[in-house]
Amino acid sequence: MSFRITCPVCGARSSTEFRYGGEVPENWREVWRRDNPEGPCRERWYHEFGCRRWLTLVRDTRTDEILSYE
Ligand SMILES: [Zn+2]
Repeated sequence: MSFRITCPVCGARSSTEFRYGGEVPENWREVWRRDNPEGPCRERWYHEFGCRRWLTLVRDTRTDEILSYE
C-alpha cells in the first residue's frame, strides 16, 4: 500500500520512494498510544530514491493521510 509524500526538495512522490525511519519518540504520546495504536503519528522518512534527505511528518496511520510536515 502506497500513498503520497510531499518531499520539500522533490515535491509529491510515491511513498515507495521513501524508507520508513521510525516513529519520533514523544513521551507524552507513548502512554496514550499503548491503548490507541492508530491515529496521528509523528514519523521520520528517508527519501531513498530521490534527494536522500530525511524529513519528519505527521501521518494518520488509519488513512495514510499526511496531516503536516515539519
Ligand atoms: Zn526528495
